[in-house]
Amino acid sequence: MLDLATPVQYVKGIGPRLAEMLAAKDIHTVDELLHYLPFRYEDRLNPKGISELKPGEMASVIAEVRTSGLFRTRRMPIFQMTAGQGRARLKCIWFNATYLRDKFKPGQMVALYGKVEEDSHSDALQLIQPQFEILGDAADDGSTDAAEQKAADSLEIGRIVPIYESAGQGRLTSRWFRRIIRTALDNLTPDIPDLIPQAVRLRLSLVSPREALCQVHWPEAGESFDDLQSSRTPAHVRLIFEELFFLELGLELKRRQQKTKTGIAFSLEGRVREAIKKILPFHPTEAQKRVLKEIASDMEKPSPMRRLLQGDVGSGKTIVAFEAAIIAMENGYQVALMAPTEILAQQHYFSARRILENAGYRVVLLTGSLEDDRKREIRRHIVRGNAQLVIGTHSLIEQKVEFAKLGLVIVDEQHRFGVLQRFKLMKKSSDGEDRKSVLKSGETEGSSAENAEPDVLVMTATPIPRTLALTVYGDLDVSVLDQMPPGRSPIVTRRVSDERSAEVWDFVRKQIAVGHQAYVVYPVIEEKEESELKAAMKMYKELSKRIFPDLRVAVLHGRMEPELKDQVMRLFQKGEIDLLVATTVIEVGVDVANATIMVVEHAERFGLAQLHQLRGRIGRGAAKSYCILMTGGKVSEEGERRLDAMVRTTDGFKIAELDLELRGPGEFFGTRQAGLPSFQVANLIRDRQLLEVAKREAAAVLAGPNPDITQAEIDKAVRHMRTRWQRTYGLVEVG
Ligand code: ADP
Ligand code: MG
Repeated sequence: MLDLATPVQYVKGIGPRLAEMLAAKDIHTVDELLHYLPFRYEDRLNPKGISELKPGEMASVIAEVRTSGLFRTRRMPIFQMTAGQGRARLKCIWFNATYLRDKFKPGQMVALYGKVEEDSHSDALQLIQPQFEILGDAADDGSTDAAEQKAADSLEIGRIVPIYESAGQGRLTSRWFRRIIRTALDNLTPDIPDLIPQAVRLRLSLVSPREALCQVHWPEAGESFDDLQSSRTPAHVRLIFEELFFLELGLELKRRQQKTKTGIAFSLEGRVREAIKKILPFHPTEAQKRVLKEIASDMEKPSPMRRLLQGDVGSGKTIVAFEAAIIAMENGYQVALMAPTEILAQQHYFSARRILENAGYRVVLLTGSLEDDRKREIRRHIVRGNAQLVIGTHSLIEQKVEFAKLGLVIVDEQHRFGVLQRFKLMKKSSDGEDRKSVLKSGETEGSSAENAEPDVLVMTATPIPRTLALTVYGDLDVSVLDQMPPGRSPIVTRRVSDERSAEVWDFVRKQIAVGHQAYVVYPVIEEKEESELKAAMKMYKELSKRIFPDLRVAVLHGRMEPELKDQVMRLFQKGEIDLLVATTVIEVGVDVANATIMVVEHAERFGLAQLHQLRGRIGRGAAKSYCILMTGGKVSEEGERRLDAMVRTTDGFKIAELDLELRGPGEFFGTRQAGLPSFQVANLIRDRQLLEVAKREAAAVLAGPNPDITQAEIDKAVRHMRTRWQRTYGLVEVG
């Protein structure tokens, strides 16, 4: 008998070598093997007859190999195989498929699955690049025992058949998985404990774990085929829910534990409120007021704040951050404001000087590029408590800065940091040991203050779709700035081919003539020989010398000296530069209200989130703004969808949802190593509703024993959650 914890190597048919191949797929135990779900199913219960096929449909056909061969055309080798049922024939074609040369033998039965198309030459139907599986040889090669072969065949036809992704460089085929998983299921112990509390199970009508595992691989004949393909059968729902439930249980627990820690209870007395009001350069929006209230109420509480402030580009997060900073500073604490890039740190520093320094707060900027002497001096100010607001890049964290009395950490544009980094950061600003070296508060007066954790406010400009926010930020409370400051005209977005660049430059010239400023953005800095991309440097010369010799044109890119970057940014901000040629260094946070035009060259090369961030640099004032997406050359289908979305909407949430759909969660956050939980069976896009349910149920369970649920059940679930987290997320421990 196998149980779920048994190593796969003990499943009949898997030895140490195959176990190694499975390990590469993160399959070590029977449990993991059984969670290797089919990515689709084929209805071989009712396969189609060749004569019934209709053009355009996806069809499953079982037929006999008649002939096959490789044809070389001028453009590419084409492999062709003709399969038959009686007198009916069906041609199958694979492009560039020399590897199929010796694959098929006449007389073999094959299962084919693909789109039926009409052959333009002969009107006959054919399958282009179908998926296939050889079901058995007419003349067996003798290596398999005849009875076993027959039993195996019954797994291939006359039923709904699970199709698995192959592994081990194709050695572990779909067919192999089918047999091995079947063997594992046949030998699986009957009693698999259900770790989801009974009340939850009943409420959601979840099937038992054993039934789920059996049905998901070998669905019964009556199962809805659509439900199977869309992972919506009761078996699928059970497995997906389980995965999401234990994820949410961990996040929920983290959140609860956070709340029990000692933080700083900031005072919000009249003096503090007055101080906030005094600095405001404008009337805050309703959203800003609401969000500030949420933040202030966290800060007032004795438990440490862990809050995510989510707001589209331009929604006005900075001033909210400054307001929070004032609360801390008025209470005698220091504030650290961290940005992902130097330019953005600079930008915050400029604003902070304008808004806060004038009101008497002491603000310093600490970035990696400062002279060592200067850095030392600034650090001294920080450790002595002279500096009240410290703005910097994350080198601020890395360089072991000591604070006299740190009360609030603000992390801006968080998505740039990656999720794992955030966990680290929070650990550092909170864990006893780490605090000694990093983000240290040197406070020594009373032991309670010494142990107090600073509040943390994380701000992100990428509107994170709710599903992702729930998983990635499931341990944070969330505030949303869902309203733009008043007096902004919508941004007009157009796409044009770069063949019409002359018209575009004309338009830019007219805008600049009436006093506005423009950005022209390029995807790379220097032109590679083989690439046709226009480089910012080259275009800078072209634009400044030839097209706009009469205008003030400057260039900004990541490889420039920091001082030069500052200088350029400052001049642009002051309106002393008309047109700024830039790479994506301006993507994040730069704020110049008078810049109303953005031309993005080779817009097809940019990701959707990136385009949205870039576009967020304009439309910041009352004047109408224009975003011109220029494309050069061929645009891929996905590129088309991105550009289309940009033209259609400026709603960051919609764009983020689409981006997530196009790229998947890993890429969405920039890197695969972003520390996103990776899922066995769940899919954040497809399963967003189940995720919400899982979150709700997890919260209900942790709310404690009640008539529905016993303490023993809660303990059992939490214990299981811990093992799962340890296994799945490794270094990130819970509880
Ligand atoms: P983001 O959320 O992208 O960081 P910012 O904080 O940079 O946005 O704000 C964008 C611009 O809007 C800034 O120029 C800021 O001064 C301005 N702004 C913010 N809030 C308001 C408001 N309530 N009324 C008018 N302008 C505002
Ligand atoms: Mg900002």
